[in-house]
Amino acid sequence: MSFDLKLSVSPTARAMRLRVDRRTGEVVLTIPRRASRRKALAWADGHRDWIEARLAEVAPAIALVAGGNLPLYGRPHLIDWSPARPRTPRLEGERLVVGGPEEGLEGRLLRWLRRHALDVLAAETAEFAAKAGVAVSKIGVGDPLSRWGSCSASGGIRYSWRLILAPDWVRRATVAHEVAHRVHMNHGPDFHRLVERLLGTDPKPARLWLRSQGPSLHRVGRPV
Ligand SMILES: [Zn+2]
Repeated sequence: MSFDLKLSVSPTARAMRLRVDRRTGEVVLTIPRRASRRKALAWADGHRDWIEARLAEVAPAIALVAGGNLPLYGRPHLIDWSPARPRTPRLEGERLVVGGPEEGLEGRLLRWLRRHALDVLAAETAEFAAKAGVAVSKIGVGDPLSRWGSCSASGGIRYSWRLILAPDWVRRATVAHEVAHRVHMNHGPDFHRLVERLLGTDPKPARLWLRSQGPSLHRVGRPV
């Protein structure tokens, strides 16, 4: 197995550190500013077995291609493409029916996923906000690498559109979490009690799911 090493020089690191990013599949070597690059590379080379074992744990990249599968709501959905159909994807049971030229198919599917994610997340945000008796001023989606949702002091909530790829119960727990931040801008006991009341169940399994399976959601629709 071969891999590219991304060298990151850190002003605060005290020791060399290797990690494999399960979201991007990158091997990152962090070194203190004064460290010798030659020594660092030799050190990393000595950890080749460890790197390869970690790389084997990275979920394969899922390209969105005709006849392929897309993990929508945590379940595989067939990408059912035929050029004569309308370009805009349409959900039919466990199939995503889509037409138009094959070129640009992935881009159309990604744009549809983002829009669909926004619709679903906005509806669930409204549902939990009504239950919590709060207002949410603005709802948006983006594609951040490090967070699934964020709630601003001005009352807006932004989500990762990739939550639509996760099972419904994981997505709903994330929405309940962000809406609860409209009441408590912290992670104290009152906050956790409110999340559980809004959701009607313990949100912890959803957090654990995102920790273990979340990185694989970043493997969808990226270059193989
Ligand atoms: Zn939080």
